[in-house]
Amino acid sequence: MSKKSKPQPTAFYKEPGPKLDEESPFESMMERFRFAADILELDEGMFQYLASPVKQVIVSVPVVMDNGKIQVFEGYRVIHDNVLGPSKGGIRFAPDVNLEEVKALAAWMTWKCAVVNVPFGGAKGGIRCNPKELSKSELERLTRRYTANLLDVFGPDRDIPAPDMNTDEQVMAWIMDTYSMNSQRTETAVVTGKPIILGGSQGRKEATGRGVVTVTLAALNKLGIMPNKTEVVVQGFGNVGAVSAELMHEQGAKVIAISDISGGYYNPDGIDIPKAIKYMNDNNRSLEGFPEADKITNEDLLELKCDVLIPAAKEDQISKHNAHKINAKIIAEGANGPVTANADSILEENGVMVIPDILANAGGVTVSYFEWVQDRQGYFWTEERVNRRLNRMMRNAFDNLYQVCDEHKITMRQAAYVYAINRVAETLKLRGIYA
Ligand code: GLU
Repeated sequence: MSKKSKPQPTAFYKEPGPKLDEESPFESMMERFRFAADILELDEGMFQYLASPVKQVIVSVPVVMDNGKIQVFEGYRVIHDNVLGPSKGGIRFAPDVNLEEVKALAAWMTWKCAVVNVPFGGAKGGIRCNPKELSKSELERLTRRYTANLLDVFGPDRDIPAPDMNTDEQVMAWIMDTYSMNSQRTETAVVTGKPIILGGSQGRKEATGRGVVTVTLAALNKLGIMPNKTEVVVQGFGNVGAVSAELMHEQGAKVIAISDISGGYYNPDGIDIPKAIKYMNDNNRSLEGFPEADKITNEDLLELKCDVLIPAAKEDQISKHNAHKINAKIIAEGANGPVTANADSILEENGVMVIPDILANAGGVTVSYFEWVQDRQGYFWTEERVNRRLNRMMRNAFDNLYQVCDEHKITMRQAAYVYAINRVAETLKLRGIYA
């Protein structure tokens, strides 16, 4: 085939990136980065280094669809940084994925790994597609071709993908297999979040939600609130939201509202979370029609009076438009970027304690690190050991940041950025710039 006839990347999904009246996730990240850089008196060169992604790759991913026609998707992988170690971060499949978003998410991974003291840099990937409209075999071909296009980027010592929005264990298994077939050896450590039978780790699936709950309990403790006297609202009932809700419920907290794409479900007497999870699983993974609660909108759900609000759905949920209406004592960011930078100061003025995403949802990458370690050792841990170590790392990270808060009289989010940027900058100084 001549070069000219190569299919061009077609924008099948033309949804715009960030909303025009809102900050882009990358701007949100940069605003917080600048603030922390000022506190650290980071020099200009270091600032530039850490603000610029190491590598941004866009690939065209042609797929022969079930109807025999070729469709070309656009895929991304951004490596923000690899100062602390090989870059690490998930891959998302969504109709509105774009380079700006992936860039922001990659940078967040850098700071996230630094916050929990995991020896990884940050990366993120995505494919612009609507996974709901693809058959399983189309998804498989899409994943394998995307992986094949990025064989020179991925690697157990280079860049290690993981699940993110709309990607799961099966997708990770295809990535692992495609990479292994091409390197002619089994390379389980090239990707994390794999099925357990294929070198995955016990506890990885629940790890993000478990980490959210560990830091939420630590925050409640600082505010002198008993978990069993707590009212909790959870936005999003995917892996992170459902596990967070379930573990808070186990702690005796009253989860008064939950939501998914079908809307919000509110019961002031508390929702029976195991029942809601069973309902969702029996109902094609949707809460639609969940009977033991009143239906409310996702917007109203965010404004409910509660002790803990866990936004575990997607970016930009709490912005300058609704931040003043938030009625929670603690926000634990289960999702990446659910609060925009221009909402931070409003929440701060209103005394809302925000446990930032780069700490709150770092449980996922922490157990990804455990998975990578286990794969490389070929020795696998019990779930109890994984959970114990996860708990310890999250707790230590919370305490470290709390100390930075105290020292500089700043918010938990600002402390997280100061801590993470300082750690990466100090490491970079030791490594120096290769010339
Ligand atoms: N996608 C997850 C995150 O945003 C996990 C990344 C990983 O485990 O590498 O933190």
